[in-house]
Amino acid sequence: MGIRIDGKAYADQLCDNLQTEVAQLREQQGLQPCIAVVLVGEDPASQVYVRNKIKRCEQLGIESREHRLATDITQQQLMALLAELNSDSSVHGILVQLPLPPQLDEKDVINAILPEKDVDGFSILNAGYLAVGQNQVVPCTPLGCKMLLESQLGDMSGLNAVVVGRSNIVGKPMAQLLLQANCTVTIAHSRTRNLAEVCQQADVLVAAVGRPRFIPGEWLKPGATVIDVGMNRIEENGKNRLVGDVDYDSAIDVVSAITPVPGGVGPMTIACLMYNTVEAAKAAHAAATG
Ligand code: NAP
Repeated sequence: MGIRIDGKAYADQLCDNLQTEVAQLREQQGLQPCIAVVLVGEDPASQVYVRNKIKRCEQLGIESREHRLATDITQQQLMALLAELNSDSSVHGILVQLPLPPQLDEKDVINAILPEKDVDGFSILNAGYLAVGQNQVVPCTPLGCKMLLESQLGDMSGLNAVVVGRSNIVGKPMAQLLLQANCTVTIAHSRTRNLAEVCQQADVLVAAVGRPRFIPGEWLKPGATVIDVGMNRIEENGKNRLVGDVDYDSAIDVVSAITPVPGGVGPMTIACLMYNTVEAAKAAHAAATG
């Protein structure tokens, strides 16, 4: 039976370390890390995500400034706010909660954030830095996955890694990080042929598909390490449940280790947002003080 990778415990540990570091930065360097969180509209899921992020900031001593904007805000108005936040040296990270209402161009909005303040790591510049191996801000979810993999495997050199999913926010940056860790990387997607066979080659499998229990245990290589990014809400036995992209119950007997859903990658994503914010604050402070 494989190990259940406790992402929550790992995230709590990372946050404990960050809390200590934030206190030291404040006391020793007069530096108060600060993130601006921009929420447009009333989407209930986005409100929950923002609330959770702000709660984590409070726990860690990171200042958060919430900007709640009306659903019908114009692109120009949002861009004006981002310009203001970009030029405010007391703000180290800017997070625009996605998705945005349809009148707003998500790409232009994200790319309007200064790359050094883009703590989600979604801007084209940060994606480019990652692609050429000059990592600046790395997207939080793949960064968290990489930390969990390293905690299990240490050196991943030469391992076969399969990433199922090729989104800009998870699959592609995940593949870049695995390549940087010297894995032999395959990116699978909806047009991949013989997906089961591709998955069976994986020493490391990262599932970021968005389909409940899509990958069964029989698709996995015995002894593989599996990271399940999927967060799928389903109705089961009259109950609302959150399940991953991997069928945990059939996978656990095959793999050497696997992240559960919930309690795996999810907590790491927020912890890595906190990590990126603290790193952004340190970098800005170092640049300002020479
Ligand atoms: P996405 O943008 O919808 O991308 C899904 C990817 O899966 C696409 O590349 C798609 O291929 C591929 N795919 C879909 N059906 C497939 C199939 N039948 N066979 C093989 N590949 C298939 O999703 P995402 O934003 O990357 O998110 C993926 C999952 O992770 C979702 O459940 C999401 O909720 C979850 N998530 C979790 C966190 C967290 O913090 N835990 C963070 C972000 C996302 P094509 O490109 O060919 O369409």
